Amino acid sequence: MYIGSIDQGTTSTRFIIFDKQGNQISVGQKEHSQIYPHAGWVEHDSDEIWSNTQEVIGLALGKANLSPLDIAAVGITNQRETTVVWNRFTGQPYYNAIVWQDTRVGNMVAELANEGGADCFRAKTGLPLATYFSGLKLKWLLENVEGLREDAEEGTAIFGNIDTFIIWHLTGGTDGGIHITDVTNASRTQLMNLQSLAWDDDILTKLNIPKAMLPAIKSSSEIYGEARGVLSGVPVAGDLGDQQAALVGQTCFAAGEAKNTYGTGCFMLMNTGEKITPSTYGLLTTVAYQFGNHPVQYALEGSVAITGALVQWLRDNLEIIKNSAEIETLANSVEDNGGCYFVPAFSGLYAPYWQADARGVIVGLTRYVTKAHIARAALEATAFQTLEVLEAMEKDAGIEISSLRVDGGMVVNETLMQFQADMVDVPVVCPAMIETTALGAAYAAGLAIGYWEDLDDLKQNWGIAQTWKPDMEASKRDNLYHYWKKAVTRSFEWEE
Ligand code: ADP
Repeated sequence: MYIGSIDQGTTSTRFIIFDKQGNQISVGQKEHSQIYPHAGWVEHDSDEIWSNTQEVIGLALGKANLSPLDIAAVGITNQRETTVVWNRFTGQPYYNAIVWQDTRVGNMVAELANEGGADCFRAKTGLPLATYFSGLKLKWLLENVEGLREDAEEGTAIFGNIDTFIIWHLTGGTDGGIHITDVTNASRTQLMNLQSLAWDDDILTKLNIPKAMLPAIKSSSEIYGEARGVLSGVPVAGDLGDQQAALVGQTCFAAGEAKNTYGTGCFMLMNTGEKITPSTYGLLTTVAYQFGNHPVQYALEGSVAITGALVQWLRDNLEIIKNSAEIETLANSVEDNGGCYFVPAFSGLYAPYWQADARGVIVGLTRYVTKAHIARAALEATAFQTLEVLEAMEKDAGIEISSLRVDGGMVVNETLMQFQADMVDVPVVCPAMIETTALGAAYAAGLAIGYWEDLDDLKQNWGIAQTWKPDMEASKRDNLYHYWKKAVTRSFEWEE
């Protein structure tokens, strides 16, 4: 028997089938459209996502010649904060999914911050006011989609992050689909109280969000229901936001253990155990996971909105590379960044700055600079942003990180990983299985049904594939970082 994992990411949807050792047996993957209706707006078609989900499940099963009978349980992991509202009786969405990177609620952020300060929800939710989280996106939908508020109040219109939407469809949709989420996803809405793990009535009142439209909050690992259709009869037993799933996939189960995932954005999470650790250096306090009845584990998180997305932007908007891999060849055709720094504040800046009104800048340009320097600056931006988050993490947690566990789509880029090690000045360690996000959701599902006994079982599956050691003089590193910091200040306060 195997465990299936639905990994619904920002750029694509995957279904991966794992065996007991955490090996990948089969995978189906499909990209979905990115919809940009206005500057700063990012949407997905949720029906396309559900249709792709079914397709990739069929694909992965077919490739390995397996049927749902071979799958002991299925887990779901998802792009977090992406907000969907649909009709419980027809299944019709009211609007495209508003993607986490979308900045349309910038004005609401400013208004609320004026009233109560940028940290007015921090004590309860662990999160600063930002365009990032689902709550304000939901408020925007309620205020801008005709008829939605009435339908929401009577419980016809229901809300979810993508995990909730997929689980509802997977378990029957209009024919008895269950409306749930897990504690990690709920912690990204800015509507859940971190202490009580329940929807916070004060915040709901303040944002005028009807409770009837919110899903029930469950643990990350328990049998929620049974799948129908493509996975007919398979227990749906795991649900984790993608970054929390990667933390689990990397088996960071002890307080102080951290990982950094390089995908569309970059997300560093440190397990802080059963303790809620507030941040004073611009990080988020969030739920790491909760396995069944075990105590909930918390995390500190440094979220960076744009890393891999910048590589896509060079490919799709500037067209200076044909595919993501080419950025490495282009960057390596020059010795250094030629004095060029690229701050990709396309969605404002997230951690540690939380500047909703920042926008992207390329600075340090001279006639000497070529597209190769820009490619290099784009890669370096990922490493600089990670260094800033790591420094904040060390200060908030009071722990020095001795090595950085990495994963995600960008870690195939050796040039980036070496530069990352040079910048953070500790070894960067990549595990053998880099699909840690999907693996984490599989682990959650497998634990719920006893496919894996306990956490030690999972830790045995983790092994190192590659380590990059720091190899740069301190003076050179300091100089690069100094200019990066200067470049960042140039991106501030662009939108008014
Ligand atoms: P997500 O889960 O956020 O959809 P993935 O982990 O699948 O993201 O990673 C995809 C990202 O990695 C894309 O943004 C892509 O541009 C980037 N990427 C893929 N290959 C490379 C590469 N060789 N060098 C740099 N970036 C890459």
